[in-house]
Amino acid sequence: MNHFDADCIFCKIVKGEIPSNKVYEDDDIYVFHDISPWAPVHFLMIPKRHIASMAQLEESDTSLMGKIMTLAPKLAMEEGCRPYPEGGFRVIVNTGDDGGQEVHHLHVHVMGGPRPWAKG
Ligand code: 5GP
Ligand code: ZN
Repeated sequence: MNHFDADCIFCKIVKGEIPSNKVYEDDDIYVFHDISPWAPVHFLMIPKRHIASMAQLEESDTSLMGKIMTLAPKLAMEEGCRPYPEGGFRVIVNTGDDGGQEVHHLHVHVMGGPRPWAKG
């Protein structure tokens, strides 16, 4: 079974066909800096397998999503977010048109660093 979508820019990033500034990678997850950051720290965490959005998640994805959410704080600190509670970070998963999703490969935004931010 093909886990990639040939027309998806984030699948192309996972495959290395489009360059990215990598933060972390393992067998299931790829993490890279957002090309147009809203905040001093802004990276995207994606499953390597093409999943269009959160709306397509299945019960079998529970451990994958748990792994992403558990990894987020560790990478946030490594990327320069300040510790909780004075620091912290924001996690956003835009889903569908009403949710403001532009790239249809599930991605978890992690943003942080001192304010003010460009957006958010
Ligand atoms: P969405 O609105 O779908 O939640 O956010 C998509 C995000 O992907 C945006 O913040 C945008 O800046 C980022 N993005 C879009 N294309 C690329 C790209 O080619 N490389 C990287 N690194 N980020 C991208
Ligand atoms: Zn994809």
